[in-house]
Amino acid sequence: MDLMSNSNQQINVLLVTVAAQGHVNPMLRLGNLLVSKGLHVTLATHNYALKHHSSTVGGIHLEFFSDGLPEDYNRQTADYNVYVNSLRKYGPVNLSTLIRTHTRKFSCIINTTFVPWAADVAAEFGLPCAMLWIQPCTIYQIYYCYYNKRNDFPTETNPDMTVNLPGLPSLDLEELPSFVLPSNSLHEIESMLKQVFHNMHKIKWVLGNSFMELEKDVIKSVNDAGCSFWPVGPLVPASLFGKTDETGGDLSGFDKFESESKNECLEWLDKQQPASVVYISFGSLIFSSKKQIENIASGLKIAKRPFIWVVKLPENQEREEIGILEEIKEHGLLVKWSPQTAVLSHSSVGCFLSHCGWNSLIESVTAGVPMIVCPEWSDQPTNAKLVTDVWKVGVKVSKNSEGFFDGEELVRCVEEIMNGSKSAEFKKNAAEMKRAAHEAVAHGGSSDKNIELFVNEKKINFRSIDQ
Ligand code: UDP
Repeated sequence: MDLMSNSNQQINVLLVTVAAQGHVNPMLRLGNLLVSKGLHVTLATHNYALKHHSSTVGGIHLEFFSDGLPEDYNRQTADYNVYVNSLRKYGPVNLSTLIRTHTRKFSCIINTTFVPWAADVAAEFGLPCAMLWIQPCTIYQIYYCYYNKRNDFPTETNPDMTVNLPGLPSLDLEELPSFVLPSNSLHEIESMLKQVFHNMHKIKWVLGNSFMELEKDVIKSVNDAGCSFWPVGPLVPASLFGKTDETGGDLSGFDKFESESKNECLEWLDKQQPASVVYISFGSLIFSSKKQIENIASGLKIAKRPFIWVVKLPENQEREEIGILEEIKEHGLLVKWSPQTAVLSHSSVGCFLSHCGWNSLIESVTAGVPMIVCPEWSDQPTNAKLVTDVWKVGVKVSKNSEGFFDGEELVRCVEEIMNGSKSAEFKKNAAEMKRAAHEAVAHGGSSDKNIELFVNEKKINFRSIDQ
């Protein structure tokens, strides 16, 4: 039976996410995919810009619900414990009101990891619920084992143990996500993650922003243990697959940082040699310290390679106050925000110095760009391990006892990637992963098949509700 001929008009999917860029981006990209399969998609989040300008991005309707914090509360520099707590307290009731009063009748909810209470709201309305897991399956496995007490993890009395989990390489303390460590101080996030796994029985599908060929062993282990993890990624703009994006293009402009620098970055890259540029970005949340910025700048001064650097200065600091940035600005481009996926897919980019946020990482994998990794917290230390030890597409910077890396260390890593003895191997592995990523989402590829199964099941469910 041809399910595509069913009445798609009436299938309304509600996506619910935290308003952070690293959560909104993959959710909007999943939304685009569902729109392309004929479903109607609404995305609800607590970004106040939407309260005043309810709008549409690439065929996805955007809606606002309040997280209970004042509009002018600085969420960028917020105490995460306060932020997460308020969202957990006020999010469910405000989302319920949105659903009850909305003109669309929703057929299912898909939530990102950090809003696990959306599954309770779905149950309240009798709606099926799926989750978009926005980190690698590797992290899903670690949290699953940790919160279900399947394995021993480091404790204050036994901090140095190595953790061995099914489908994963051995992980040392510094390779585990920060929230499972005895040193974790973000207790609200830890308790929210506990709720994720407590609520997992209410989730019918976990859709992962990964692909089978990238994390085969662990995806298999997770599903063998009875979970339902379906990789549908990489969730990246179509432009990273060399296609014209008909669904809204690069979605970074959704955030308050408008991609004003888009043309500036691309025009500058057009003038550089192939694979010559070092791209530097630490995502949307990390603000580097003055000391770290000075160290990176001194490394770039020695390396004498062209660069694009997204510099997020510490609060109350002006760029002019950091003298060395003035000295190096002739050799590269210093920006506040970059059109990252367009930058990564430009042929002039040779390597990416990244904090290893999962979106950045999977975007780099899809673009075939080797990486230098400098993880900070959350899933980043484990993601970095995948880059260096599992996929072998990059190197890790060594930090000193104060938690910084110095200029010489940056130069060592850049040269190792661009010109070192393993340079050809990094490039070959990155090219191989790029090919696998493209195949996964192509017609009949592993992720394409999973999204088809999901969409067809929604259609079948909807039809039975409708009858
Ligand atoms: N991003 C961007 N321009 C920038 C920095 C980041 O477009 O200058 C995008 C990036 O492409 C990614 C997201 O913001 O999609 C950041 O998510 P990630 O998971 O890498 O890190 P987080 O910000 O959550 O730490």
